[in-house]
Amino acid sequence: MKGTVVDNAAVHFGPHSSLDTPRTTGLGASGLTGPTSQQFQPFPSGSSPRAGRALGATVLDGIPLVDAHVHVPNLATLSPAWVQWARDFGPDGILEDVWDEDGVPCPERLDELFADQGVDVALLICEYSPNVTGTQAFDDLLPIVEHNPKRFRPVAGFNPLLHQPIAELERQLGLGAAALKLHPVHGGFRCDDRSLYPAYHVLQERQVPVVIHCGTSTFPGSINENADPQILLPVIRDFPGLKIVLAHGGRGGWYDTAASMALSHETVWIELSGLPPKRLPDYYAGFDLGRLARKWIFGTDWPGVPGTAKNAAAVADLLADDVAAAVLGGNARNVYAGLPRLPAVDAGPSQRMEV
Ligand SMILES: [Zn+2]
Repeated sequence: MKGTVVDNAAVHFGPHSSLDTPRTTGLGASGLTGPTSQQFQPFPSGSSPRAGRALGATVLDGIPLVDAHVHVPNLATLSPAWVQWARDFGPDGILEDVWDEDGVPCPERLDELFADQGVDVALLICEYSPNVTGTQAFDDLLPIVEHNPKRFRPVAGFNPLLHQPIAELERQLGLGAAALKLHPVHGGFRCDDRSLYPAYHVLQERQVPVVIHCGTSTFPGSINENADPQILLPVIRDFPGLKIVLAHGGRGGWYDTAASMALSHETVWIELSGLPPKRLPDYYAGFDLGRLARKWIFGTDWPGVPGTAKNAAAVADLLADDVAAAVLGGNARNVYAGLPRLPAVDAGPSQRMEV
């Protein structure tokens, strides 16, 4: 289907795809440090926040749009590599536009900007990866959620090497988390680790999905072998009711694996963040795209994307109207916890798929 788009930003060709910045060493002994002058220099001298270009208004013809993968961290707790990534792949001037001089995002500006891009619901991701990208703390997301709880929902996160998983998960679910996101590639752990099973049990019981980063990353220090979706096969077997979202859809060497898993398990979904829409037919060339897309969930990895509405329209262009509506909003609303429900698109053939 065709969306109406009034944004001439270039189509995104993938965050992390060409990042080549030195590994940060400024994260401190604990790895969970606060701001340091070494780490945080987002604005070149002479620039000022809010000086970025205004984004063009973009509309997708009345289709509810959920962006399931958005990062709005406090810049002071991140590695320089992450800040550079946002500069390299995001809209021009985005850091100056949305974040203040202290590296804190401005909820009002963010709300305005997402409304302008036609995003009805944005799921805000946190991450605890001190050896790679730094810390994106769950609690730092809460002022944004409080500003507009209809548009912004937090996603829980922890690192089993740093946290007591159950305690953190329970706390963050209590604060309204719509899912749990785990980052085995930056966080340095495997998602089939039995220490995570109690958390998976809680999620399964409460019908809250787990989102797993399944794609290579070029951030220095990444443990890319942990991105293999097949690592999750025991988890799928042991938790047949647990909804599992494969973020980045197997980016790198595992597109076929991710697609096969999504088609053969009702509970497994592919989330599209970081994948340039125009390349989706190539990435999943061995599959019937219209059928596979019934298991897709739209996401951007914002701010590592030049135009959310443009990406959404490019995804919609690949698909029939009903499937596009499911991918852009309906599937997310049916998979994530606490989002308004929409009628599901029949996933029919996926359950008869043999792989
Ligand atoms: Zn991300």
